[in-house]
Amino acid sequence: MNRVALISGINGQDGYYLSKLLKNKNYKVHGITSCSKPGIGEPPQNQYYCDFAEGSNLNEILDQVQPDEVYHLAAQSHVRLSFDIPVYTAEVTGVGTLRLLEALRHYEKRSQKKIRFYQASSSEMFGKVVESPQSETTPFHPRSPYACAKVFSYWQTINYRESYGMYACNGILFNHESPRRGEAFVTRKITKAVSRIKLGMQDKLYLGNIDAKRDWGFAGDYVEAMWLILQQEKPDDFVIGTGETHSVREFLEAAFGAVELDWKKYVEIDPQYYRPAEVELLCADPTKARQKLNWEPKVTFEELARLMVEADMKLSQQEKIL
Ligand code: GDP
Repeated sequence: MNRVALISGINGQDGYYLSKLLKNKNYKVHGITSCSKPGIGEPPQNQYYCDFAEGSNLNEILDQVQPDEVYHLAAQSHVRLSFDIPVYTAEVTGVGTLRLLEALRHYEKRSQKKIRFYQASSSEMFGKVVESPQSETTPFHPRSPYACAKVFSYWQTINYRESYGMYACNGILFNHESPRRGEAFVTRKITKAVSRIKLGMQDKLYLGNIDAKRDWGFAGDYVEAMWLILQQEKPDDFVIGTGETHSVREFLEAAFGAVELDWKKYVEIDPQYYRPAEVELLCADPTKARQKLNWEPKVTFEELARLMVEADMKLSQQEKIL
């Protein structure tokens, strides 16, 4: 019998790479997608509509799908935007996880089945970091409504594990990017602009704090870690990152460098992209994942910037022809 996976946020970057990975492993994959996403009509096959701000049909979805593994990736995941819509972010990114955990607890009772639950926790929870690099034992200091909501979900996940013996785990993933990253995130915003500038479709790129440092990896590598986390004998929490940190400036250097342009000629600072509170530095200590999951990221920082620029060059070339 094929194992059955349910992925919330199936239409996001990670949902894409994770469904590909699980299908290759012969899982039957079902997805949850948000009703509030513009441009989506009827849900495709094996997809269910649910907005985690609401969540009233979660029980029904679980009864239909009968999952073995649930990957909760759905969230309002944009940090800057979370300052504008903090209550909605708390509903979706925070209470939404609790809605799902509670539905899973009842489903386990009804079905007499043990489910494995993955919570997409975030390095943003470390926020104003108290030590560097950050590991599973580093205290949190969230710096945005998004990060506060993720801390809530992190603890709810652990609480369901400890209170009800559920197999519930947190993957604390550092920033992970790909050609499927949303265009409002800094890496993708940069690689898209690089391609458009190279093709003469755009003159300038406006950014906020380019001195911020992140531990950036490739999303395709990180979904492998999500799966591995749910294959362990005992449920546990893991930090997933590369262990290297780079500034936005360095990403600019790498991305513009990939098409032999000098970023300093094109980038302007626009304070509208500053955040009320900034996370200056994130850097993972992925020792536990390396030792217990045998997980290693494969794509390097330079390769990541290059592959994203190459993908955006193709898209912008098509757009230019049309
Ligand atoms: P985050 O780490 O989840 O907030 O991922 P982002 O890709 O949104 O932002 C990464 C870093 O880039 C943050 O420190 C931002 O302040 C910084 N940054 C600088 N300019 C921009 C910009 O124009 N857009 C975004 N999204 N981030 C920017």
